[in-house]
Amino acid sequence: TEFQEISEGLANIRTGGKVFYNPVQEFNRDVSISVISAFARRFRKENEELRVKKEKNEVRDTQLEPWLAGTRYEDGINILEALSATGLRSIRYAKEIPGVKQIVANDFSLQAVDDIKNNVILNNVEHLVKPNHDDAVALMYQHKKQNQFDVIDLDPYGCPSMFLDSAVQAIKDGGLLLVTATDMAVLAGNSPETCYTKYGAISIRSRYCHEMALRILLQSIESHATRYGRYIVPLMSLSADFYIRVFVRVYSGAHKCKFSTSKLSHVYHCTGCDSFTLQPLGITKTGEKGNVKFKIPTGPPVLPNCEHCGNTHHIGGPIWSAPLHSSEFVKEVLDIASEKLGTIRRIHGVLNVISEELLDVPLYYTFEKLCSTIHVEQPPMMVIRSAILNAGYRVSFTHMNKTSIKTDAPTKVVWDIMRCW
Ligand code: SAM
Repeated sequence: TEFQEISEGLANIRTGGKVFYNPVQEFNRDVSISVISAFARRFRKENEELRVKKEKNEVRDTQLEPWLAGTRYEDGINILEALSATGLRSIRYAKEIPGVKQIVANDFSLQAVDDIKNNVILNNVEHLVKPNHDDAVALMYQHKKQNQFDVIDLDPYGCPSMFLDSAVQAIKDGGLLLVTATDMAVLAGNSPETCYTKYGAISIRSRYCHEMALRILLQSIESHATRYGRYIVPLMSLSADFYIRVFVRVYSGAHKCKFSTSKLSHVYHCTGCDSFTLQPLGITKTGEKGNVKFKIPTGPPVLPNCEHCGNTHHIGGPIWSAPLHSSEFVKEVLDIASEKLGTIRRIHGVLNVISEELLDVPLYYTFEKLCSTIHVEQPPMMVIRSAILNAGYRVSFTHMNKTSIKTDAPTKVVWDIMRCW
């Protein structure tokens, strides 16, 4: 067999050739190293603060959020890379993330596990990286009641959905789950039926498809978690090249799961002018009649036709309509990301844009599309941004598309501004 030699970050890898390695994913691995480092620092800090409070008798275990009561940072984090291929990612995590206790590098291909074993020795990380030959799902089920992981990384070919049920159970309370999806055609609306079968949501072919893809994936992870009295909090969500990647914390708290519907929406997408309206699933109004308590779903009424052009709607979703990231956390990642990373300049560029994205306005408008719909020449983006700001609304860019904006201005205001700039 022909061997391929690769060096990336602090790792040197050999592979028999048939084992998966994709150089384009260096950015994905660099970002993941930075995110896990920032998470580990936070996890340790939370645990330390808790220990101090407990010592001072300021809290009793019964008063704690379940996830804090369960936090066990101990002396470092343990990571599962469930789909490891060459072991490159695990070896880089071992060498480049401070405070790692153990990494399990798993694959169900014998040839891959052979590569992992050789590479672990080649990189002198036998004490940190444990090669493992198993089906990822079976392995994660073995860890659902005991020896849960602080961090689980899922980096499959294509769609991650078959790994989600086991992953959300095998992670520690407050732990970090990293998920890649590369089946962009399915998530971006080319096959809404397949998207429903895999993710439980209908995708829409649109300009905002990358953000919609992220929100469908998050919705899907949360729906798996709530089956076990758990819920997610996204730390960061990324769309890059041909894939999407989400970084979420998984918490236990059955009472919080019923808020899940308030984090979801259907999307009404106009088939004529591409305007979009979100219909929250959230149950927000409660009432009482006789001795029967009831809850009424509220939100904008379903619109039979588009209010801007009168055409019909496509209905997509449900999507995650709560925030995609924590700006504070993204800044911590920027702060901790090593200058030595091969893709550090791209990390700075992308994460700075992410940290400024409007958090409370899902999806975005694309300039080319707005202009072609109303047959006007494309205005400079800055002109439109200022017009929206002057009208008293907020506006931001999005890392997902260079010529797009997010804004809390009503769609009608956006159309008016586009017509009269
Ligand atoms: N994470 C790697 C990286 O950054 O280089 C790449 C992983 S590659 C995309 C996917 C790997 O998952 C393949 O090596 C394949 O053998 C493995 N795989 C697929 N299904 C699996 C399963 N059910 N259990 C364990 N491994 C699996």
